[in-house]
Amino acid sequence: MKQKKWIGAHVSAAGGVDNAPVNASHIGANAFALFTKNQRQWNARPLEDAVIESFKKRCAELGFSGNQILPHNSYLINPGHPEKEGREKSQKALLDEVQRCEQLGIPALNIHPGSHLRKISEEACLTRIAETINRVLEQTQGVSIVLENTAGQGSNLGYRFEHLSEIIRQVEDQSRVGICIDTCHGHAAGYDFCSEEAYGQTMKELEDTVGLEWLRGFHLNDAKSELGSRVDRHAPLGKGTMGVEPFRCIMKDPRLLEIPMILETPEPENWADEIVWLRSLEDGSDS
Ligand SMILES: [Zn+2]
Ligand SMILES: [Zn+2]
Repeated sequence: MKQKKWIGAHVSAAGGVDNAPVNASHIGANAFALFTKNQRQWNARPLEDAVIESFKKRCAELGFSGNQILPHNSYLINPGHPEKEGREKSQKALLDEVQRCEQLGIPALNIHPGSHLRKISEEACLTRIAETINRVLEQTQGVSIVLENTAGQGSNLGYRFEHLSEIIRQVEDQSRVGICIDTCHGHAAGYDFCSEEAYGQTMKELEDTVGLEWLRGFHLNDAKSELGSRVDRHAPLGKGTMGVEPFRCIMKDPRLLEIPMILETPEPENWADEIVWLRSLEDGSDS
């Protein structure tokens, strides 16, 4: 039997992280993302032992291995912060998030690379990002940092594949770093996924600048914004400016097995339907 791709959504962890696998299972997912703490606050209480045990038990019962889970970091963290104080605060918060993954038995954490806030050059910011990652990795074990490409809104870096490869180049333990491609962010940053030919070229560019061996995740989102607009607005699959084709190409791509593919689309009530639709593209029963 053909191996099925790992498809899921960024599900709610309200009431405890151990609710996330249950929420993922309800929508027919075999992968999921979550926040391991409130994503809009700096500080969080440590995870309780009972919640950690419950999370692991439920993941095992519902068939989610650690590799099928890709948590997302807090939006407040800026590993490339131009100022010492800001960077130290971000490093401390990132360390806490990686330690939460360690506790939960999750082998990777997805992060937004960082922003220069128009105070330092892109190059200097990329170096700071790598340094922050190095300091966090040396204090932890068994968890990789996964760099998400961004839309390039404001002063966010990571909107060029070259940014991701440059950060990886400066990370000391390269066995513990990877990348995640968000389709909406890529589209907004000017990478075209919207025809079979364009998809092939964009993936070739990713292969040539970073390398597909670094791929640890995908975020499946359509866009409300135009190609190259640098505006980050997610749309339901097939209903935005990207349309159906990118998702057909991704579902048909035999290289994209055993990596979590996560919906971050704006209508959670439709996630179950979106997953069914993606499965129909995968097995060709849509046509
Ligand atoms: Zn993200
Ligand atoms: Zn994303």
